[in-house]
Order: sequence, then structure tokens, then C-alpha cells
Amino acid sequence: MSEQLQKKRHTLAHLLGAAVLQNYPQAKLTLGPAIDNGFYYDFDFSGGPTLGDDGLKEVQKSMKKLLNSWTDFSHREVSIEEAREIYQDNQYKLELVNEIAARGEVITLYTVGSFTDLCRGGHCEHPNKDIDTNAFKLDKIAGAYWRGDDKNPMLSRVYGLAFDTGAELDAYLYQIEEAKKRDHRKLGKEMDLFTFSDMVGAGLPLWTPKGTIIRHQLDTYIWELREKHDYQRVTIPHITKKDLYVTSGHWDKFADELFRIQTREGKEYALKPMNCPHHTQIFDRHPHSYRDMPQRYAETTMVYRDEQSGELGGLTRVLSITQDDSHVFCRHNQVKAEFFRIWDIVDTFYGTFGFNLRVRLSFHEPTEFEKYLGTPEIWANAETSLREIAQARNADYFEAPGEAAMYGPKLDFMAKDSLGREHQVATIQLDMNLPERFDLTCINEKGEKERIVMIHCAIMGSIERFSAVLIEHLAGNFPLWLAPEQVRIVPVTDAHNEYATEVYSLLKEAKLRVVLDDASESMGKKIRAAKTEKLPYFIVIGDQEVSDRTVTLEKRDGTKEVLDLMNLTTKLTAEVHQRGL
Ligand SMILES: [Zn+2]
Ligand SMILES: [Zn+2]
Repeated sequence: MSEQLQKKRHTLAHLLGAAVLQNYPQAKLTLGPAIDNGFYYDFDFSGGPTLGDDGLKEVQKSMKKLLNSWTDFSHREVSIEEAREIYQDNQYKLELVNEIAARGEVITLYTVGSFTDLCRGGHCEHPNKDIDTNAFKLDKIAGAYWRGDDKNPMLSRVYGLAFDTGAELDAYLYQIEEAKKRDHRKLGKEMDLFTFSDMVGAGLPLWTPKGTIIRHQLDTYIWELREKHDYQRVTIPHITKKDLYVTSGHWDKFADELFRIQTREGKEYALKPMNCPHHTQIFDRHPHSYRDMPQRYAETTMVYRDEQSGELGGLTRVLSITQDDSHVFCRHNQVKAEFFRIWDIVDTFYGTFGFNLRVRLSFHEPTEFEKYLGTPEIWANAETSLREIAQARNADYFEAPGEAAMYGPKLDFMAKDSLGREHQVATIQLDMNLPERFDLTCINEKGEKERIVMIHCAIMGSIERFSAVLIEHLAGNFPLWLAPEQVRIVPVTDAHNEYATEVYSLLKEAKLRVVLDDASESMGKKIRAAKTEKLPYFIVIGDQEVSDRTVTLEKRDGTKEVLDLMNLTTKLTAEVHQRGL
């Protein structure tokens, strides 16, 4: 937030306080800061009538009216005695006054128009000129404890939205409205992609046939990209003896999140919370010459983490997480090239959906080197490599010292979606820890054992979280290659069934996911259904089509095209193949 916008929002909090006081003279003012999208003020209405949602309009009107008289702020310092006198009937302000005094700071009162408030400053110079009355709006009221402590009285928090211009406010309101419509939990249900069962439990999504098609298509795409870079698929069990996690450190580190299993013989097992420890054991099955390096293993598989049930919701927080995981086992001098390859995959994959990526280079904090594993030289080399890659790729990147993992630096990708929201997606992590713990080596040119490093990367992060982001980014309008049902064919009457079946068979033959809808419903109903299900294409077959041996292909956006059968299959298969948006 710019300093100027911060000042506007802060000033508006005062304006809200003044307007509430005008309409509710018994209200007690407490605290009112600027926040990310505007401002709020907490009020105690216990001494008189309470402001409810239906009163917000009136208060907002008062704010706009009062603003005309808010030409400039003046302030004066007051003694603690005077401040206590002024706020003798307001225990909240009194508490603040005493705290300011205890810190040895001066107490200042700011006055604008006929309104005075305890404050340390930071306002617009000329509120009536600086603040656009169309650029703010009261939003909602919520309960909030004084100073966030549930032992304190419950106050009413009035929220306002505020931006520099009315256009920015409108854009924000549109984004919020649109985000509600696109909520993946809502669309997932409407489009029949996944479901939850009380008997299975919260946080354990069950993927329907349609949702499974999407998962499978996403994963197939990732695998195609990986295959070009010589990854190999591996497969591991979903459980392990305790020993593996004691060695990896997860038995302690993941203690709370680990699902533990006890066998009938009393042995301790666990469900895997991650795949790396298992994969190290595949790498370590026999010695590797430097000529075999790197080894690149990929596997799409579920991991399980015990989260508190209050934190579960939709696909963003789940207990069963599908990772499109990969581990590259390589030498230090191969790190740069391997990061480059993975970055290629990330760029291609996210570019396909029109996400804009920003990259955070998560580096170590030089003043606290003792926190990290490895030598300063290794870190310097690794971080220099990452910076060089970012520069070579002309990436939109920034460096974040102190954000590295204890065991190595990271590249974190942030994707901006179609509503301008940023999501953390893929992470490429360099790991010098697990190779140490599992004593992973290769035999180098001199015939000596050489410590290797690991690179972890899941391109989608998790399929669950990525699906949630993607559903909302696309508003459920999946491109043809991803859509569970790609084309629906609707004959107008039974007389058109024969030709409709012919078209259906042809598309089915071409491996398209096609449905023939010859149920005896009205056309209107069928067309509405196709709209809710957000089908990419829809074909209505009537007399004209039968006699011309053509089809009219209607796209989701309503555009129509008449094609003969040959051109129909060519067009659709080409579109699938290109993975266009
Ligand atoms: Zn102030
Ligand atoms: Zn890993």
C-alpha cells in the first residue's frame, strides 16, 4: 500500500468514528486502523442503540457529508492528566492513554472539522481534497473483542473499503463478487468434480469420474513435460516402517502431522507425509557412478498429513494430498542445469493456463549462518547459480534472504490468476540434508565417494490445491483438452438420431469425450444444462444438418461454425493436441 493510500485509509477510520458518533452519540470509540483493503473502527455500543447492517448506509452518508468540512488536521500535545480527564468516560481510550504515557511518549490529540481523536498522526493533509468520495464504501460489521482478547468486552467492528479511485474500488468489488461465483467448492459441486462423505471424513475429497479426468489430464501433461527432460517413473508404497522417518528426521519434525499405524505384531509404521525418504532408498539400491548422474525420479502419488479438522475446507486444505512429485539426485555442479530444466517445465505448464509467474529466490540469512546445513561455499555457489538462472531467463524475480529452508535455497513460484490474486504454486528446493542423513553418494572421476544433493519439485504443488486455483482462475471453463465432457450432441427429434449417432461414433473414434443426449427433454432444458456444465462444445442436429451432412458446432461463448464431418474431427483433435486455452 502506498504511503498516500495508507494516510487516506487512516483518515477514513477517523471519519467513520466521527460519523458513528454523530448518529450514535452514546457509542464509545476505541481503535481504528488502516488495513489491506481499507479501514475499520471498533465501537462499544453498549451504552445506547447499536449500529446494525441496515444503519451502515446512513453512517456512510454522514461520512460523505462530514468530509466536506474536513479541510485540515490540527493537533496538540496534552498532559496525561488532561487526557485522562477527556477520556474519563471511555475506559478503552483511557487504557491507551495510560499505555502511551507508560512508554514515555507524548499524547497527541488530532482535530479535524469538529471531531477530535487520540492519535499519533499520519493523515491526509486536506481530507476534503485528497479523498474521493466515490473511492470508499462501508462494507460490513463483525464482532471483535477489545484488543483481540476473548476475556475483554465484545465490540462492533465496522469495516470500510477504500482505494485511491472509484474505479479501483469498483474493480475490487467485482473481484470479490466474481471470486464468490467462482469458489471452487461451489463450482466443484455444480460441475460434479469431487465430493465429500461424512463417513469417509472431512479433508478427504472423493474425485468423481469427471474430476478424475481432469486430474488425469493434468498429470499426463506434467509427465509429458518431464519425459522430455529424461525423468523416470518410480512407485513406492504409501506406508513405511518407523525407521525410515527416524533417519530422515520426519518422525520428530512431522510428529503431529504423521498418521501412525500399529501392526498386529506391535510394529510401528506410518503413512507417508512426503515421498523423498522412500525415493532415497530407490536411489541407494546400488552404487552410482558419476556417469549415471543425475538420476531423476518422478511419481504422482498421495501423501497424508493429519491436520486439525477446523482447518479443513474444500480442496485447499486436505488430509490426502496428491503430489506430482520429483526428486533429482545430482552432483553440486549439476544443480544449475537441473534447476533450469525444472523451470522450463514450470514455465510451459503455467503458461498453458495464462498464469503470470513471479519468482522468489529464497536465500539464507547471512547473519545467522549457524542455522543452516552445509558450508558457506556450497551456499554461495548454489545461490549464485539460482540468481544466474533467474537472470538468464529474464524472470520477474526478487531475492528473499532468510526464506531458505534450513537444508538449502529455494525457488518459489507465485502465479497471478485471472482475478489478480497471487497464489504460491511450484517450489524447487535444493536439499543438502537428506543426502547427508541417508549417506547418499556417487563414485566420482577419481574413484572416490562424493556426497550428492537432491532437488525436490512438484510442478503443481498438489493436484488438490492446483485444481482449486485452476477452477477459480478459469471460472470452471476448462479448455477442450481438460474438459471432462468435450462435446455434447443433441438431436432435435428422434428422426435425427441416426445421423447424430453417426457423428457421435466418429468423434468417439477420434478419442474425444463425447456424449449423445437423445433423452426426451425439451431443447431449452438441454441447452441450459450444457451452459451450467460449462461444456466447451455443443452440437444440435436437425433437418438441415442431416440433409447437408454437416454439423453446427456451438462454442461455449455462443459462436457457431458449420463444418463437414471431416473438418469437425480435424478441428477438435487439433485443439486438444495444442492444449489451447
Ligand atoms: Zn489518526
Ligand atoms: Zn521431496
